[in-house]
Amino acid sequence: MICDNLTVTAQGRLIFAGRDARELLTRYGSPLYVMDEARIRHNLRLYVDTLREAFGDSAMALYASKACSFREMYRLAAAEGAGVDVVSAGEAYTAYTAGFPMDRVYFHGNNKTDEEIALAMDWGVGTFVVDGAEELAVIDAEAGRRGITQRVMLRITPGIDTHTYEAVATGQVDSKFGSAIETGQAEQLVGQCLGYPHLTLCGFHCHVGSQVFDSDTFLRSSDIMLAFIAAMRHRYGYLAAELDLGGGYGVRYREDDPVIDIPQNIRQVAAHVKAACDRLGLPLPAIRMEPGRSIVADAGMTLYTVGAVKRIPGYKNYVSVDGGMGDNPRYALYQAPYTVVCPEKMHEPADMVCDLVGKCCESGDILQPKVSLPSTLTRGDLVAVLTTGAYNYSMASNYNRNPRLPVVMVSPDGDRVVVRRESLEDLVRNDV
Ligand SMILES: *Cc1c(COP(=O)(O)O)cnc(C)c1O
Repeated sequence: MICDNLTVTAQGRLIFAGRDARELLTRYGSPLYVMDEARIRHNLRLYVDTLREAFGDSAMALYASKACSFREMYRLAAAEGAGVDVVSAGEAYTAYTAGFPMDRVYFHGNNKTDEEIALAMDWGVGTFVVDGAEELAVIDAEAGRRGITQRVMLRITPGIDTHTYEAVATGQVDSKFGSAIETGQAEQLVGQCLGYPHLTLCGFHCHVGSQVFDSDTFLRSSDIMLAFIAAMRHRYGYLAAELDLGGGYGVRYREDDPVIDIPQNIRQVAAHVKAACDRLGLPLPAIRMEPGRSIVADAGMTLYTVGAVKRIPGYKNYVSVDGGMGDNPRYALYQAPYTVVCPEKMHEPADMVCDLVGKCCESGDILQPKVSLPSTLTRGDLVAVLTTGAYNYSMASNYNRNPRLPVVMVSPDGDRVVVRRESLEDLVRNDV
């Protein structure tokens, strides 16, 4: 199967992280997100350890928590020695109330509000990754009022198009994120930042894309960023101590997606970065990487119950399940691919081509089109969408006032609910 935490029994039943899919559903209800704690810890350690080995002890892995944000995720990241990045007061608050060491939090985002900036300082967020000039002024003023010096990094746009989906490409010059080197705005921002009395500029950040399967973009962006560091030393006499290369290694949503050896790729980036530093006469900066998807995606699976199988002779077939775009909007948003299986019919021929659709009043409520499932599928059967740990729970909505799903963390020490299922009561909680 696409991840080694998935196996099939001799009777054709799907086992996820050692648990029978039907047993999980019976115990916790449908539909359901399940996550594999051992896999999350493994993925975190892979980055934490490899970055230290490849770049030295100053290197740090930051879990990009927008991929999946609830308190237990921050506890796992803390336990495995990772920092985190957050992109809103909501994510920062979740980390704070989970007891995460806030000095290891990096606060991103292209438009942090004044209120978010103040709250983040209340909670002791270690580093702000600043997108542009307005924000710099607000952070300096707020730090000044508090009599503190705030660590900041600047988000730089290296000018790389990763050739991935446009919606998830962020490194090109005309991106809404960061300040571009090419236009001179990045250099200008460095000058402004260095002039503020209550800010410490600790380095530069870039993030060029997502779902990338080799190190090509990291090699190119590190070349550009190191050259920028050298240029800023020349221009302002300022030497950046940290370089954040962003996130983006890909995961396998389907069998034909490539397998990526992340440690080997990181070692390749390290060799490249070290050689470039030597060439430019720079000391090796403290390196950060910010994996999100590759920490949680293959640790997650969504279980649904079939409600209807509709065959339109001469046209197409639909299988409707009890969830949909409210719990996984990624196909509707940008045609994201997924693997779909029937956990109790793993040995049956997948002889019916159908669109797997949700229960929302929206024709675009498609979890995955043209999937092959057994034609014996009927109301009450189970369907699993695999690799849903990233950008599913975190992108979920209450469209049609469907309650959001719970998250069950499966672990060798026993399962536990880490996010409770929303109740109907929850849905009207803020209504007057
Ligand atoms: C989304 C994002 C990441 C994580 O990207 P993945 O593809 O999930 O690894 C890292 N850094 C920043 C700034 C991001 O916006």
